[in-house]
Amino acid sequence: MTQPLLEVRNLKKHFPLRTTFFGGAQGVVHAVDGVSFSIAKGETLALVGESGCGKSTVGRAILRLFDITSGEVLIEGRRIDDLTAGQLRPLRRRVQVVFQDPFSSLNPRMRVRDILAEPIRNFGLAASDAELDKKIADLIEIVRLPGDSAGRWPHEFSGGQRQRIGIARALAAAPDLIICDEAVSALDVSVKAQIVNLLQDLQRQLGLALLFISHDLAIVEHMTHRVAVMYLGRIVEMGPKQAIFATPRHPYTKALLSAVPVPDPEAPRNRTILKGDVPSPINPPPGCHFHTRCPVAMARCRIETPVLRDHEPDHSVACHLYDAPTVGSVDG
Ligand code: SF4
Repeated sequence: MTQPLLEVRNLKKHFPLRTTFFGGAQGVVHAVDGVSFSIAKGETLALVGESGCGKSTVGRAILRLFDITSGEVLIEGRRIDDLTAGQLRPLRRRVQVVFQDPFSSLNPRMRVRDILAEPIRNFGLAASDAELDKKIADLIEIVRLPGDSAGRWPHEFSGGQRQRIGIARALAAAPDLIICDEAVSALDVSVKAQIVNLLQDLQRQLGLALLFISHDLAIVEHMTHRVAVMYLGRIVEMGPKQAIFATPRHPYTKALLSAVPVPDPEAPRNRTILKGDVPSPINPPPGCHFHTRCPVAMARCRIETPVLRDHEPDHSVACHLYDAPTVGSVDG
C-alpha cells in the first residue's frame, strides 16, 4: 500500500475553558475527540458536519496553529505534531490553507504582488527578482485573475476574486496539500461554483491533495473523492463519495443528506428532521454522542461509544446498528 500524504491518528484537541481565580480549569471543550483519517497524493477528502462539530479544529491542528492534546499528525510518514517551530519550518510549505473569509484573510495594506511574493520569498522559491515576477504572473494567470492584478490592492477586488488571490497565495508555496476551510461558504452561489471549478482544475493540473472542510454537502458532492462526516468531535462515517451519497449508513449522515436542497422540492423524498440542537462539546452526551437526537437510538447507545469500523471496503461507520451481523436488516 502506498504511503498516504497526510495521516491523522486518533487526534484529540481539548480546550480548557477559562481558568478560575486559583488557576484551575472550569471545564474542557472536547473539540476533537479521537479523529483518524488519511489523504493520498492528489486526493480530495471532504470533512463535513454542522457548525461546531470540530472540523475546522482538525484543519488548524494539521497546520499546527496550536499544540494538540494527543494523537499524531504525519506527512509522508513523518510525525509533525511533536516538531519544534524550527524543525517544522521546511514542512510548513507543503501544507497551505485557504480560509473562509476572503475579506479578512488578505492584508489590506499589501498589493497582490506583495501578498504572493511573501510565501515565495519565505520558502526561498525564487532565485532572482525576474523569477519572482514570473512566478507571480503565472499564479495570477492560473487562478484566472485579471492580468493587471499584481499592482492592485485587495479592496479593488470582488469577494470571488479575493478568494482567487487567497488560492494563489496558497499555491505560491508550491504545496502538496491545501486545506480549504469553508473556502466557498461566504460566496454567492454562482461565484461558489466558479471557485469550486477552479479548485478542481488546479487539483488535476498540479496533482494537489485537498482537505475540503465544509458544512455544505451539495458543494462537497461535486468536488470530493471521499467524505468524512463529523459529529461532536468524532468521525461517524467515512467512505467514497458515491457510497456516502448513494447509500449512507449512519443515521446522522442520512439526516444531513435528507436536508440537502433538491431541484424539485415537491418531489417525494424521505426527510429526517433532527430534534434539538447539537449538544455542547463541553459536556458531550455519554456513549454515542448522537443518541440525544438519533431517531433510532437504543438503550446501549446511551452507554457504549460506537467504534468507527469498516462496514464495506473503505466505507466505515460508527454506529451500534452495524455492530450486529444482521447488517442487511438496518439498510435503507
Ligand atoms: Fe443512533 Fe445508536 Fe447508531 Fe448512535 S449508535 S447513531 S444513537 S443507533
